[in-house]
Amino acid sequence: MATEPEPGPRPQIPAPVAELLATLWRGGQAAYVVGGCLRDALLERRPADWDLTTDAAPERVQALFPHSLYENRFGTVVVHHRGAQYEITAFRRDVSYSDFRHPDSVEFGDSIEDDLARRDFTVNAMAWGSRPGEEPTFVDPHRGRDDLARGLLRAVGDPDRRFGEDALRMVRAVRLAATLGFEVEAETLAAIGRNSGLAAHLSGERICAELLKLLAADRPSVGLRLMADSGLLAVISPDLGRQPGLGQNKIEREDLWDHTVRTVDATPAKQVVRLAALLHDIGKPDTLADGHFHGHESVGAGMARDFLAGIHAPRALQERVAHLVLHHMFMYEPNWSDAAVRRFIRKVGPGSIDDLLALRAADNEGSGQPADAGHLTELESRVRGELAANLVLGRSQLAIDGNDLIAELGLPRGRVLGRLLDDLTDRVVAEPALNDRSILLDLARQLISDRPLVENLIS
Ligand code: ATP
Ligand code: MG
Repeated sequence: MATEPEPGPRPQIPAPVAELLATLWRGGQAAYVVGGCLRDALLERRPADWDLTTDAAPERVQALFPHSLYENRFGTVVVHHRGAQYEITAFRRDVSYSDFRHPDSVEFGDSIEDDLARRDFTVNAMAWGSRPGEEPTFVDPHRGRDDLARGLLRAVGDPDRRFGEDALRMVRAVRLAATLGFEVEAETLAAIGRNSGLAAHLSGERICAELLKLLAADRPSVGLRLMADSGLLAVISPDLGRQPGLGQNKIEREDLWDHTVRTVDATPAKQVVRLAALLHDIGKPDTLADGHFHGHESVGAGMARDFLAGIHAPRALQERVAHLVLHHMFMYEPNWSDAAVRRFIRKVGPGSIDDLLALRAADNEGSGQPADAGHLTELESRVRGELAANLVLGRSQLAIDGNDLIAELGLPRGRVLGRLLDDLTDRVVAEPALNDRSILLDLARQLISDRPLVENLIS
């Protein structure tokens, strides 16, 4: 296939990237910027990373760039240049996929056209560059620029075959639809519907990476709805897949899935809050009885953790999301005492309280209510006040610690000691004036005599 005769648009290429191209050209190599970065540059979005492709073998690229690293068999050399990293990959051609996710082998391609043909969507299959000594031009054999102008994600080549090679491309389609605000072209979308079952072969890590990118979009609902409608959702999370069609009386004619995606869109673009919004009602289908979802937050917290563990999300993220799901049903009343507000902060944890309030405000909006329904704004300002007053909200701020109790009361280390510290913390949270070393030691003695040690030890 010949390259386009006209030079095409000249993308805005940052100086360090232009220097890498120039080095390759001077070294007698063909070189191009390629893929998502070119797409983003034409859309005037900031590319996440700049990728180059070349006819040079990895060893040759390493010879041209002393600060580089070649550590995989896919022909990608990572070059360090002016404080950043760039991937320079030899033209590739993928050869047969038998597991729906990895090419059985990778061959180096002969031309930029070979390399573009293996890429997923037409808007990701454009390049700008040249062979050495020629004027750089736009290389766009799959008419990506037309699709870019129309806002369309269209598979390169036959979509059924391309999704059969690598099922992640389907997830990338819905993710890119959300992040770019594009539509998936009709034939490509129909092929996702036919092939969605293949997503079951994907590794959790790859799904997780795409899901997190999807959730970072301005309106994640665009991608989430495509996922549900194409059947991908039911494969990736059978539990979330049960939400479409499940009625609940929040907004007329809207089901639980409508509520979930509205809630996600209403959250600030913070990863942990977005994930919690996606999963906050995951326990509802299982707990539905007599028109109520009793205990869906605690059932849901476990299911949220399991889902995130299944896609190998970082452990700390699993825990923080499950924690928010568990606590999302709190019921604030304006007649709460200040001590009650502090007890609430202690239960949720000062580090999670803002996220929980943001989740609940979004949950309100997702239910067709004002964001601050349930006096949320008032609760927020009272929480702020308590946090600013710097009073005791946890064990670490107590005027004594475990060592004091061991030294002064002769207690052994262990569960009893921990529970005693928790009880003392509860008392101080309610009554800050008690946070004094001698008062607390007296209180501890009293607590022990009220509740004999033996009883503490057996319980
Ligand atoms: P992002 O903005 O998230 O970086 P991207 O499209 O650039 O989106 P990358 O993972 O950086 O995604 O991939 C760079 C390029 O590699 C893509 O634009 C596409 O050309 C190609 N590519 C990535 N994943 C696949 C895949 N699974 N199948 C075919 N080509 C792919
Ligand atoms: Mg990229």
